Amino acid sequence: MLKISVSGVRGIVGESLTPQAVLEFGLAFGTFTKGSKIVIGRDTRISGQLVRDALVCGLEFSGCKIIDLGICPTPTVLFMARKFRSNGVIITASHNPIEWNGLKFAKKEGIFLNKQEMESLFRIYKSKKFAFIRELSDDDAIVKKFDKAKALHIDAVLKNIDKGLIKKRKFRIACDFCNGTGAVITESFLKKLGCKVYAVNASPDGRFAHNPEPNTKSLKTFSNFVKKSKVDLGLAQDPDADRVALCDENGVLISEEFTLAIVVKAILMKTKGKVVVNLSTSRMIDDIATEFGSKLLRTPVGEINVVEKMRKVNALVGGEGNGGVIYPKINFCRDSLVGIGIVLEYLARTGKSLSEETSEMPHYKMVKDKLAYSSEKAKIVINKLKSKYKNEKIDLRDGIKIEWTGGWVHLRVSNTEPIIRIVAEAKTDGEVKRLYNLVKKDIK
Ligand code: MG
Repeated sequence: MLKISVSGVRGIVGESLTPQAVLEFGLAFGTFTKGSKIVIGRDTRISGQLVRDALVCGLEFSGCKIIDLGICPTPTVLFMARKFRSNGVIITASHNPIEWNGLKFAKKEGIFLNKQEMESLFRIYKSKKFAFIRELSDDDAIVKKFDKAKALHIDAVLKNIDKGLIKKRKFRIACDFCNGTGAVITESFLKKLGCKVYAVNASPDGRFAHNPEPNTKSLKTFSNFVKKSKVDLGLAQDPDADRVALCDENGVLISEEFTLAIVVKAILMKTKGKVVVNLSTSRMIDDIATEFGSKLLRTPVGEINVVEKMRKVNALVGGEGNGGVIYPKINFCRDSLVGIGIVLEYLARTGKSLSEETSEMPHYKMVKDKLAYSSEKAKIVINKLKSKYKNEKIDLRDGIKIEWTGGWVHLRVSNTEPIIRIVAEAKTDGEVKRLYNLVKKDIK
């Protein structure tokens, strides 16, 4: 089955993601945007070129003019959409396994379509009432290639961080690109910052060397490599390079929650401003915001939910605890280059190592889990919890988040899979397990 959500469209190539489906989503997006200018880009998946061809066909038949950026990270496409003031489509299935691919739709502000816009797009897709181009002019059906996107994206990040300071520290950095789009941009970015790069899985051929979701489990081999290479830190991006996880100089994989925590701290140290994160993100960010006298706001899970709130309150920085950093001054989406740049500048400024920094951070223990439930059953479960915990401090904007002084549990129905996601956090291992088991028992 094709998975359609606020995160776009995803499916298994040739099974649910058929050439017809891709073509018709091209027609639907062309109809939705009234035959506008569209930037497109794709990740390194082997199916990428095929999906791109079907998409381009649909977009062109509905009168769109296409600028093709080729293989590049998701944040590079969004950066160019904002720069060119044009809509965009990204061909990627992010961290899903290799047999998957998908489409993400963006608008000219350089942000994704929101829930209502995705629903409108899907209505057009389902109705099959597409607007076709009537008369072709000379420059119709000509795809313009643009090969400077990655360089422009890199320059924009460099302009907003202290390049000289980072260069002086002469960082030695190990990278794991998982043979994704990080491989076409990150090394040249780091070299411009005077870093020595030791990269693994650096062929942008889409043959993912391990589970492409960057977390402590999938990066075990990489952590050994970091240790052996005697570097200052290691970094691992997901295949479309919107997220980044870090590994310290001892080869210790630090929770992906730290990426955003360090970035928020680094930014608030320099400027005061509002911070926006989703409901499942660590309390580390609350502590940091409080320390710097800044306001923290939370939103339902999903990048566009965070982005829309950030726009509304004119936030300085935000993101998601899964390694997704959003710093609108550079890019209005999760951007791993932005995250890496800000972390390096911070380490250079403070002279600290990554292990020193993480040991000084407020410490929490987190459990992330999922339980298989159909979405109807999941809704019933969550409604029962709502009445059981009605006297506690609860947040009902995205499933249910129950908050106590010592910790919290957040349960939500997944947008993309028939599961309930549970995230729990507390100060100690024992306490987080207690809270997690308490709610899990309720569910059963
Ligand atoms: Mg991704």
